[in-house]
Amino acid sequence: MSQPVLRLENLSRAFGGIQAVDDVSLDLNEGEIVGLIGPNGAGKTTLVNLVTGAHTPDKGKVLFFGQDVTRQKPFQAARRGLCRTFQIVQPFPALTVTDNVAAGAVFGGGMDSMMAARRRARELLSFVGLDHLAEEMASSLTLPNRKRLELAKSLAMNPKVLMLDEVNAGLNAAEIDTALDLIRRISQQGVTILIIEHLMKVVLGVSQRVVVMERGGVIAEGDPQTVVNDERVIEAYLGSK
Ligand code: ATP
Repeated sequence: MSQPVLRLENLSRAFGGIQAVDDVSLDLNEGEIVGLIGPNGAGKTTLVNLVTGAHTPDKGKVLFFGQDVTRQKPFQAARRGLCRTFQIVQPFPALTVTDNVAAGAVFGGGMDSMMAARRRARELLSFVGLDHLAEEMASSLTLPNRKRLELAKSLAMNPKVLMLDEVNAGLNAAEIDTALDLIRRISQQGVTILIIEHLMKVVLGVSQRVVVMERGGVIAEGDPQTVVNDERVIEAYLGSK
């Protein structure tokens, strides 16, 4: 098999007495959608923060296309195409929807003119189904639309790997279906995706592989069917699959 797009080797990070991430190793292969799930406090967001340089690991390595990028700064990660969305979406409220996405295109997408960035932004807004709100202020968007905007912003940075941190939280069943469909379409464009969710059922239908974290460590990994029947996973979720 060719080298993984992203390889995490034995990553660990403690905060005071809490071992938030404990010796986690994980490969993402090109074009895969991998689900990362685990109960509250399992260490999922901290793992993303270690990958993007928002936190420094105490131990371990991050390899991106074989290159050691451990301890990079978050802006360097984004420019390399190692992009993430945030659990709490925070668009620039005083900018229009288009300009929020255009800012991403200028910052990480290599666009050198605002006109080109806005053109790219409009394409992406159409892709995520927000073109009709392009000239609205970002502050006026509903939660599902803010999540779509967050996706468009991250796509504007031309991600090679996209880590989606609870993009479905707070959405109803129909909105989740729309969001998952969008994630599949992003994957079809060749983006490797790590979809991080608190709820197992959200990732099962969209992921080729699922990784389960609990108390900082990986407790199961495999295809969705295998993982959902794993005793430790059932126990971690107290039968709430
Ligand atoms: P959730 O689904 O609730 O977002 P999570 O799986 O993403 O949970 P993390 O947010 O990574 O979990 O947290 C893992 C552990 O590390 C928790 O016990 C949390 O309180 C702790 N933690 C995370 N970030 C910090 C920090 N900056 N300072 C201190 N403790 C932290």
